[in-house]
Amino acid sequence: MVEHVTKSFGALRVLDDVSFTAPSGSVTVILGRSGSGKSTLLRTINHLERVDEGFIAVDGALIGYRQQGELLFELKEPEILRRRVDVGMVFQGFNLFPHLTVLENVVEAPVSVRGRPRAEIDVEAREWLARVGLSDKADAYPRHLSGGQQQRVAIARALALKPKVLLFDEPTSALDPELVGEVLDVIKELARSGTTLIIVTHEIGFAREVADTIVFMDAGRIVETGRPDQILTRPREARTAEFLSKVL
Ligand code: ADP
Ligand code: MG
Repeated sequence: MVEHVTKSFGALRVLDDVSFTAPSGSVTVILGRSGSGKSTLLRTINHLERVDEGFIAVDGALIGYRQQGELLFELKEPEILRRRVDVGMVFQGFNLFPHLTVLENVVEAPVSVRGRPRAEIDVEAREWLARVGLSDKADAYPRHLSGGQQQRVAIARALALKPKVLLFDEPTSALDPELVGEVLDVIKELARSGTTLIIVTHEIGFAREVADTIVFMDAGRIVETGRPDQILTRPREARTAEFLSKVL
């Protein structure tokens, strides 16, 4: 849940009174042109950015709350780190560890962050790799994989931490066109299985297919929110229509 979140970098207001809720098991797609604040919004949900106003709650857990510039409540840093694990994030650029195998990439965080035994995690990690269709690549190094395969490893790695919500920031923007489909298919499967997802993407067809809710942002504000058929076919706002006319 994001309530009245405002965030500025210096004089630039990047998020301006942003509120929305992603119910458990739902898929929210965030659309908007470059610079509209989408990545910053995801980073606040992941507690990588502090908000100036408002609050973010993940599964009922509040990180901090500011109102009229006054700090009303804030967790301490170690607790924020623990809470960050509730929010998985997959980036445009995969960010795999190049010196670790695929399996080691997936195993690393649950062992180091969650402190769970390696043997137990190994079994689970192989299940996550199977889920993204990469069972046969467990012992390969990232440089030997295609971009689409690397992104699927990044998804398995995020899932291995069993986050309450998984955020995707333009997960297919860095991929060659022929590799986009295999990554979108994995995300569609997650959507069907009831994982709570918040996805920033420019893939409108995909958004139409998977989203329960589409949030359209412009200049740091939510312009409109609705079901895919409403937003994509009958947008209420001129700015939404203009954006769609450029990307469709
Ligand atoms: P989007 O993901 O929609 O393209 P961003 O959230 O990345 O938008 O950026 C929104 C605005 O905030 C842009 O004008 C960007 O230049 C600015 N911005 C983002 N991060 C920072 C930062 N760390 N410092 C200063 N400005 C930033
Ligand atoms: Mg961005």
